[in-house]
Amino acid sequence: MKNFRIGHGYDVHALREGLPLVLGGVKIEHTKGCVAHSDGDVAVHALCDALLGAVALGDIGLHFPDTASEYAGIDSLLLLRRVMELLAEKGYRLGNADVTILMQRPKLRPYIEEMRRTLAQVMGVEPDAVSVKATTEEHLGFTGREEGVAAHAVVLVVPV
Ligand code: MG
Repeated sequence: MKNFRIGHGYDVHALREGLPLVLGGVKIEHTKGCVAHSDGDVAVHALCDALLGAVALGDIGLHFPDTASEYAGIDSLLLLRRVMELLAEKGYRLGNADVTILMQRPKLRPYIEEMRRTLAQVMGVEPDAVSVKATTEEHLGFTGREEGVAAHAVVLVVPV
């Protein structure tokens, strides 16, 4: 019989003035956005890596190479949708997910509920199964200096 499995994901993108910022599938009002081949959604990328990690299917770079033109500027929710298909092919579904975004500014609280709803819908679970948290690193390090944004994700997957 198959067991529950856990996975962890981590991602970072640099911030640059004048680029759009998308986190957890939600557009964030800010003067800076992520430098990336895709839309640079670190929260979704960390989540994809956690899901892939839970079933030992490698990582997001393996499945969606940043050298492939088909992924240029892509909505990361499409990548998440594909990862959920891979998870289902392995015989698993999401139990719950917990995502932490590390960013100095702006305050992400006003966007958290929409992120939870958006991610839950794509992953086919209730919003109650998806936690999104945001924290600053107290002006320390690259997130504290507003040079970049980072995200961690942990997931539990359960046999279908
Ligand atoms: Mg990334």
